[in-house]
Amino acid sequence: MSNETNHKAPLSLGEGLGERINAYTCANGCPNTVVKHRDPGVTPMYIECFTCNTMAASHFYKVPQDLEPHLIAFKPKDKAEWKMYRRYVADCWQLSRPDWTMKELWEAMAACEQHIQKGGVLMVPKDKLK
Ligand SMILES: [Zn+2]
Repeated sequence: MSNETNHKAPLSLGEGLGERINAYTCANGCPNTVVKHRDPGVTPMYIECFTCNTMAASHFYKVPQDLEPHLIAFKPKDKAEWKMYRRYVADCWQLSRPDWTMKELWEAMAACEQHIQKGGVLMVPKDKLK
């Protein structure tokens, strides 16, 4: 047996209060957009459908808890982790809101940071969370 104990998964994805699954449904009959919490925190009532990008409504966690997630909800655990993901968040906005000025982008990032400080979580596609 190897003595490898330094695998990176912080707190591992299989434990802790945050491990809840929620799903969102849009009006176009797409598969549900499934969100898994790595950390507890407030998620929005509506998000964009993972498939068609229209509005999808929350099921408030009343879904089977073994669904395969598209998105991971998490709270950056420190400055370093936030720094790592703020680039990703900024890239998303630059792609989806190409008309935003730098100033608008910065304002959005500040609002995002505030959202986290107030107990909100970020949601990123599960392959983006290291
Ligand atoms: Zn959809």
